[in-house]
Amino acid sequence: MGRPSILKDKNPNWQGGKFIECPICGIKKWKKPYQIKKKRLYCSKQCGLKGRNVHPKKGSEHPSWKGNNASYFVIHKWIRKNYGKAEKCKKCGSIHNVVWANISHKYKRNIKDFIQLCQKCHMKYDVKTGWGIATKRYNLS
Ligand SMILES: [Zn+2]
Ligand SMILES: [Zn+2]
Repeated sequence: MGRPSILKDKNPNWQGGKFIECPICGIKKWKKPYQIKKKRLYCSKQCGLKGRNVHPKKGSEHPSWKGNNASYFVIHKWIRKNYGKAEKCKKCGSIHNVVWANISHKYKRNIKDFIQLCQKCHMKYDVKTGWGIATKRYNLS
């Protein structure tokens, strides 16, 4: 007759669950079975929010990085973020209108593929290598 619910009978206060360490701050909190099932393991709402921010959607950061056309913009952003503004022309030493110029024209994600050039030298270099059009078009100065 009926299913024996041993746990309930032996301990009327028993509801299941266990102590779970909060993945964010490490505080142990008693979690009910349905919370564990739903992976609500954070001690508080704040930690829950932090936990969500730890794992942002992957692959959405640089959607255009792989594209050849977009790389011009991306690489210039990258270089400024990592190496700052170009400040001194490596050819003539000018500090006016200095920009990062790509040496190989392949926009490698490598600082060795870049040189700081002033607008004047940059344009000369551009004419030689034939990519001044892009620089003008995107106004990368
Ligand atoms: Zn916490
Ligand atoms: Zn120069």
